[in-house]
Amino acid sequence: MARAVWSSAMAILPSRIAQTRYNAQTIVSEKFTSADALEPLAIGVDIGGTGIKAAIVGLSGELLDSVHAPSPRTISGLQDFVHSVVKRAKTPVRGIGIGCKGIIDANSTRVKSSPGDLSFLEGQLLSEVIGAGDLQVCAENDARVALIGEVLWGSARGKRNVVMLTLGTGVGGAVLVDGVILHGATGAAGHLGHTTIDPRGGLCICGNYGCLETHFSSRTIESDYWAHMHRAAPARLSISRTGEVPNPEAIFRAAAEGDECARYVVDRALDYLGAALVSFLHTFDPEIFILGGNIVAAGPQLIAPIQDRIARRTRTLLGREVPIVFQKIVGYGGVAGAAGLVFLKQNLLAI
Ligand SMILES: [Zn+2]
Repeated sequence: MARAVWSSAMAILPSRIAQTRYNAQTIVSEKFTSADALEPLAIGVDIGGTGIKAAIVGLSGELLDSVHAPSPRTISGLQDFVHSVVKRAKTPVRGIGIGCKGIIDANSTRVKSSPGDLSFLEGQLLSEVIGAGDLQVCAENDARVALIGEVLWGSARGKRNVVMLTLGTGVGGAVLVDGVILHGATGAAGHLGHTTIDPRGGLCICGNYGCLETHFSSRTIESDYWAHMHRAAPARLSISRTGEVPNPEAIFRAAAEGDECARYVVDRALDYLGAALVSFLHTFDPEIFILGGNIVAAGPQLIAPIQDRIARRTRTLLGREVPIVFQKIVGYGGVAGAAGLVFLKQNLLAI
């Protein structure tokens, strides 16, 4: 297994938060005292397609000890990673919460479907895979745990109707309706990234065509910009010496600085995102709409251009402006929310 990188919360999180400029409020404690040792703790694990993160999390959402590593590619790699986190806990923890890409049966912790990098987990019971003895293991879809983190400690604290989109390599979604996370008959509900935005659009990883994920995701924005470069359109950015295409953050910045290709790519992607947001607002009537994931690092440039359009399109049916905010727990939101699963299950917290 690739080497895991440990950090104290104080070392890693403020730097991540500072990078994104959303550091006005954060759940991360400034300091820890001996009294914190008495607080119930849980381990949160966020298994993504490229990276895995974990932390020991306190009841008020503070991250005591965090670690990140490249995603494991085998069951034993995942076991080793989680067991190393358990060993790091200086005081007993209440359980292990896991957020994982794909369709997860929260009752059994079975990974029903997770196409792509984590397909080795398909069909597995995460509680068995982890094999943590008497420790309770809870599991849920990664976007849902990110939403749970925001509802417990972040920008949706105390809210009971919330929609969240995680904009990264793909597009994840999660919905809280009247205080209950939407699961649907088979656990697939809330996969908002796979809402059809263009019926004649491209083939998606999910088998559908023209999903939101195929029109607004970091890979889509990168590949759309690259396609312009490939056609020799007047693009200011270039392929790096190591062969990497410009990333979304660079493309958003270039758009703001007058790069015509970047402007076109970003405008088109934002048109699709805006249209999707309007549909979600009309469908779920939330109190607040949260945008999370890596693309959020693009900052106000992401929201400002579409806010007017959204307001105009929702004025009649909704008749009010719904706040569109960024995820507050930056970087480790899924980890905090995964630990939150344990606290919720053991009635230490409630939504
Ligand atoms: Zn799809």
